[in-house]
Amino acid sequence: MDFTSLISSFIPSWTSVGLLFGFFSYLGIAGSILPGKLVPGANLSDGTRLHYRCNGLLSLLLLVGLLAMGAWMDYVSLTAISDRGLELLSTTFIFSVIVTLLLYVAGCKSNDRSASLKPHITGNILDDWWFGIQLNPSFMGVDLKFFFVRAGMMGWLLINLSVLAKSIQDANLSQSMILYQLFCVIYIMDYFFYEEYMTSTWDIIAERLGFMLVFGDLVWIPFTFSIQGWWLLSNKVDLTTTAMIANCCVFVIGYLVFRGANKQKHDFKKNPKALIWGRPPKVVGGKLLVSGYWGIARHCNYLGDLLLALSFSLPCGISSPVPYFYPIYLLILLIWRERRDESRCAEKYKEVWAEYRKAVPWRIFPYVY
Ligand code: NDP
Repeated sequence: MDFTSLISSFIPSWTSVGLLFGFFSYLGIAGSILPGKLVPGANLSDGTRLHYRCNGLLSLLLLVGLLAMGAWMDYVSLTAISDRGLELLSTTFIFSVIVTLLLYVAGCKSNDRSASLKPHITGNILDDWWFGIQLNPSFMGVDLKFFFVRAGMMGWLLINLSVLAKSIQDANLSQSMILYQLFCVIYIMDYFFYEEYMTSTWDIIAERLGFMLVFGDLVWIPFTFSIQGWWLLSNKVDLTTTAMIANCCVFVIGYLVFRGANKQKHDFKKNPKALIWGRPPKVVGGKLLVSGYWGIARHCNYLGDLLLALSFSLPCGISSPVPYFYPIYLLILLIWRERRDESRCAEKYKEVWAEYRKAVPWRIFPYVY
């Protein structure tokens, strides 16, 4: 592809604008009307709580079903996304910039004093736009922070499925593509199955909604986490049976550690007496879990996530670093995040945290880090 055609493939068309707005409209409507568990969010500083309708899995299954039916009736092209990947990338980027500028202006003008909408203005325009002004802005009754993260995870799956359709259309469906797709489908479905866990994450509880989160959710997640799929469209990999089995093992171990660790903490927070691996939990200072995965490393859940990320890339072989973008990025992100979380917890739990560090010396990877 020459430089001029590369540049022109980034220029948004009305079709990509339509696809994006069609997707957002569907999500807004489906999220508001489909049934789902109503999960209370964290207690906010003014004593209020938001409630999140966790119907992401149903919205996703219905959307995929509708698209499949549309394709079967010849109304929808399954390669609509993969045919205009770069265009959709720039359209989504421009949308993120516009929406966060609007959020910035709306935030600055707001007189609301509630914890969700009270403006936090530093006066540094770039800083305020980047980190956001309000904690939980909404549009037409839809909580935007929860909406965007859902859109990002679903967008990733839709891109992947469209890439899969393209590889079938081009008659180059490979074992590598099947493995990559399978692992991602399981990961994303699992995410929506446990969507309520999302309501207690740092991003939802504590981060304001600015460009950093909107760009991360709408552009970064779907377009960079799918690099392996795009790469496999134009690169052939011959995997041995042993390599495929090893790849599946990395995925299964990663999944068990990731989901197991997050679930153990979630269960412990809800009921500090909940059994861990069939035994009563060991606890330090009455607050921190030292049993199960949380007794192996202080952030075993990050280890699981890293193994999963690696398993998404291994189907691409080792001939190029490009498909390893996601695990490398995640390694840097999670080491940085673990450091931030560590100092937050040290400040919050004081000597209890020091005791926990003594009991569990490893940060992420036992005997390594
Ligand atoms: P965690 O779910 O690890 O939460 C950390 C918090 O848990 C601490 O601040 C503390 O909060 C509490 N805690 C820590 N240790 C203990 C313990 N032993 N017992 C009880 N509570 C404890 O952090 P994240 O929100 O960063 O991660 C959630 C998941 O999301 C992870 O699996 C991570 O891998 C994944 N993630 C994925 C990303 C991606 O791009 N793929 C990006 C970021 C995260 P408290 O004050 O409540 O006690």
